Amino acid sequence: MLRLQVRPAGKLCSCKHSKKHAIKKGELRFVVKEPGPATPEYGYCVACAEEMLTQAEQDLAALRSQLG
Ligand SMILES: [Zn+2]
Repeated sequence: MLRLQVRPAGKLCSCKHSKKHAIKKGELRFVVKEPGPATPEYGYCVACAEEMLTQAEQDLAALRSQLG
């Protein structure tokens, strides 16, 4: 599983999904870190994070239903 965090941006940065989605300093940023040492972190804006979480919930529900 991926390591997920929500934390305020330390500086102005852009969303991994689209460079047009700016995340200003202090705004919440959804941080995804892939497993393993020295892996980069990816930051997403709140709108993209909500979309990803909704998708993840559906994926998890599908997996759970496969378990019976
Ligand atoms: Zn975004």
